[in-house]
Amino acid sequence: MAETDNLQQQLALLAQLFAERLTHDLPQIASSATLLQDAAPGAQRQAHLQSLREQLHKLAGAAGTFGYAALGQRAHALEQQAATWLTAGDIDSQGLPDFTQALLTLQQLADPQPVSADVEALIDGPALASCESGQRIAILEDDAQMGRSMELTLRNFGYAADWFATTTALESALAERSFDVLVADVDLGITEPDGLEYSRALLERFNLSLLVISNQADFATQLRAVRAGAIGFLPKPINLPALENTLQRCFARQQGEPYRILIVDDDLELARHYSLVLSQNNMQVQVCNDPVTGLQAIHRFNPDVLLLDVHMPDFSGPELAQIIRFQDEWLRIPIVYLSGETDLSKQMSALLHAGDDFITKPISDSALVTTVFSRAQRARLLSNALARDSLTGLLKHADIKEQISVEVERSARSGSHASIVMLDIDHFKQINDRYGHASGDNVIRALANLLRQRLRRADSLGRYGGEEFAAILPDCTAQQAQRIIDEIRLKFSELSFVCNGQNFNVTLSGGIAQTDHKSLGDQLLERADQALYCAKHSGRNQVAIHPASA
Ligand code: GH3
Ligand code: MG
Ligand code: MG
Repeated sequence: MAETDNLQQQLALLAQLFAERLTHDLPQIASSATLLQDAAPGAQRQAHLQSLREQLHKLAGAAGTFGYAALGQRAHALEQQAATWLTAGDIDSQGLPDFTQALLTLQQLADPQPVSADVEALIDGPALASCESGQRIAILEDDAQMGRSMELTLRNFGYAADWFATTTALESALAERSFDVLVADVDLGITEPDGLEYSRALLERFNLSLLVISNQADFATQLRAVRAGAIGFLPKPINLPALENTLQRCFARQQGEPYRILIVDDDLELARHYSLVLSQNNMQVQVCNDPVTGLQAIHRFNPDVLLLDVHMPDFSGPELAQIIRFQDEWLRIPIVYLSGETDLSKQMSALLHAGDDFITKPISDSALVTTVFSRAQRARLLSNALARDSLTGLLKHADIKEQISVEVERSARSGSHASIVMLDIDHFKQINDRYGHASGDNVIRALANLLRQRLRRADSLGRYGGEEFAAILPDCTAQQAQRIIDEIRLKFSELSFVCNGQNFNVTLSGGIAQTDHKSLGDQLLERADQALYCAKHSGRNQVAIHPASA
């Protein structure tokens, strides 16, 4: 793979730079050692020892990563010794000759061991979800009515879904074409092996994600699903919007933007090595070599995870971490210290000030990728949950209004037209009254998912109120928007909801206003709302354009 070769070349280049650095750093440590040996006891000795400690610290952190494990370990041990003396404020004169001797002979450990093929293994490694897009879903369900309604609902949501009533039918389809997800009812009456074991085997053979449907929802069954590698679990009777939600989450995880990782470390080669390894695994990385530019980079780069060196000249990592924690809006960013510090009590004290975790240098490339990836994944999930409406995952009221204002101004500048859309579910109160609040919630979620599927990436969409949605469609006239929204209206009315064995359908009404390059976002929203009011009064289940935009 050419990309792999390129990565290997770049890593080799960094290792070469590090080797060159050693030809400078090791003699410098040796000369500091001589100075220390000759220095008078007291302040002078302390100063030399302090400088040696810093040099050893940097060496200990980086050497292992570039293939000099023994050198890194020795440097670490010597750094510990220096630290002990510095804390005591005194150098044990008996230990000093051995110490300086060890410093003078560090050079002997400067033969690199071959770096492991770690990175290459990682590129095809299993921890990293494939980023290939695709939404092909196979449904294995022996209940024909259920199978058909899952197939229909998922197709309405825009997935390429196919229902199979038997394992034979499923397997012949899998042999012919590929699927991304298998939604499998595991109570098929298969006994040897049982349904779950059977699905697990398929998952391994065909590289699928598995979503389990089961009659049982007890702990033991869910545990078995987890052990079979399932990404989701749905008890019967199937809640179709919940099924769609799980799929949505699964695909969002695979297709989301790459995680952004900011590294603040004064060791240039080391930071670049980490950066290369993470970039190669679909993460977007920015490196800063000092805390001040690091702080600016947080503003611009908006990282999902911050990797922070502990010891840097002038400022320490924990100091920067505390500055970051002054800002509420950055609370969601996990701060992970990347440090050669192995003293647990020092790690604890850094964490008490600010910061969330420690990665001890040297760290293997695969461990680095796994740790950072899982942190980023969790952080992204949480920050989405915080910024978005919990029921629908859409922007909240204030955020969609803000987004509409931004897009309205943008359209005025560019001279293009955007459309503002207001949607409201018809007779929603009756749905709640007849089928319960939980069913009502499902309807809201289903509409949110449908809108998300049907609108473009450039469109913004929010939950404006209880069962009201607002959207802005850039580069789209009111007439074009009406066609799009009307298509969604039709799809929505075809969705079949189930409550206590009863099927029901729901409709929606919509209002549209087009930007005119002078009205503000609020005025246009008001017009869209007036158009919605007209749609309601003309019988509901329709989409109207405000007269000023027609
Ligand atoms: P119309 O066709 O005129 O829009 O009638 P409607 O019944 O949909 O309108 P109305 O605004 O009178 O009722 C909206 C109802 O939506 C009232 C409220 O209880 C319900 N609602 C608001 N938020 C939620 C929610 O998050 N979940 C559920 N289940 N119901 C909600
Ligand atoms: Mg309503
Ligand atoms: Mg309403």
